[in-house]
Amino acid sequence: MALIPLATARSRVLAACSPLPAASVTLAEALGLVTTAAVDAPEPVPPFDNTAMDGYAVRAADTAGAPVHLRVVGSLAAGAAPGVPVGAGEAVRIMTGAPMPAGADAIVMVERTSTVDGGTSVLIEVAAQAGDHVRRAGDDLVAGQEVFPAGTQLSPGHLGVLASTGRTAVEVVRRARVGVLSTGDELVDDGSPLRLGQIRDSNRLTLLGLVHEAACEAVDLGRCGDSEDDIRSALSAGTATCDAVVTSGGVSVGDFDYVKVVLDELSGGSMVWMQVAVKPAKPLAFGVVGGTPVFGLPGNPVSSMVSFELFARPALRKMMGHPPSQLDRPRVIAVTDEPLPRRPDGKVHLVRVRAAAEEDGRYHVRSTGAQQSHLLWAMARANALAVLPDGTGVDQGGTVQVMLLA
Ligand code: AMP
Ligand code: MG
Repeated sequence: MALIPLATARSRVLAACSPLPAASVTLAEALGLVTTAAVDAPEPVPPFDNTAMDGYAVRAADTAGAPVHLRVVGSLAAGAAPGVPVGAGEAVRIMTGAPMPAGADAIVMVERTSTVDGGTSVLIEVAAQAGDHVRRAGDDLVAGQEVFPAGTQLSPGHLGVLASTGRTAVEVVRRARVGVLSTGDELVDDGSPLRLGQIRDSNRLTLLGLVHEAACEAVDLGRCGDSEDDIRSALSAGTATCDAVVTSGGVSVGDFDYVKVVLDELSGGSMVWMQVAVKPAKPLAFGVVGGTPVFGLPGNPVSSMVSFELFARPALRKMMGHPPSQLDRPRVIAVTDEPLPRRPDGKVHLVRVRAAAEEDGRYHVRSTGAQQSHLLWAMARANALAVLPDGTGVDQGGTVQVMLLA
């Protein structure tokens, strides 16, 4: 079977995945979601002129001959509305965030003052300029201003900004529900002693975590054995209740690799079963069942993770409304601090590495260990994949493109 170039395989998968509908969600539910329309500020931030310091609100002109004494005519806490104005020769004790009282045009920080006569008067030690330590209404955002364009992924900071403008909800592409299913007669997931031939199900937790990190809702579909009936019922249930399903195992050329068989049947023959020119993560089965994309990833733990990175994650991000330029992990050029050898085999190799920005201002990479696709430990310790084109690899001190995973 001919190997399919990575870019071709990726395009086939992406072409079959479309953005989910928009919805209005509360800010509390919006972390990681992508805006579908530009968002503006309904009100200015800050909403009123206020003090950036604990201290005294004064008329700057009164402090010109500092040190000077001013009469303290009131005290203002954050949250309180100003009562008395500040007249000539007067000051108001004021706490950070409290509104500027009428008449005052500057703040003298408390560290530059001392109280006199039990607080009825204050000694101002330094002259203030008008505007000192005053935060103006609209400094951050003016009312009506565009805050974020459509296509913005909402980070914690973005949510804080939206809350600061008085918004309680935002229009976004709704969060995708993504089911994760493990397949294989050999899998054990309850910590019980292993019989010969059995192994622990590690893929499910890993893939659920990757789905969650992609800002999707991760749905545990459990595991099923290598029987067509089991896989059919698990896939049918998963595709009926989720926006996408990610499976691992059963897509290779073994005698019991039924995922591709069942997926072909459930997708009405629209499944593509590909041998991608990449190592790890060569086999991939992809099909759409009743409108729900199914990513049939390989079972080897490293392969399933890498395949998720190459195909499922970009597709899920497209479904979640990310623009085309934002679907893939960022790539940078890095210096190889040790040789990354390989043999020519017609495939792109993705090598598990640790990448770190060093003092020369460049990323440097080292392999995290042996590279076979069952060695999950070396994958877990990697924070990047070095992309080695077909050939003999890269010498020490050479450069290589790396996909940053974190
Ligand atoms: P398969 O793709 O089903 O041929 O599986 C390839 C290899 O991955 C086999 O050694 C499986 O035992 C292993 N494998 C499959 N599923 C999992 C899983 N959920 N967790 C850990 N290893 C798995
Ligand atoms: Mg299997």
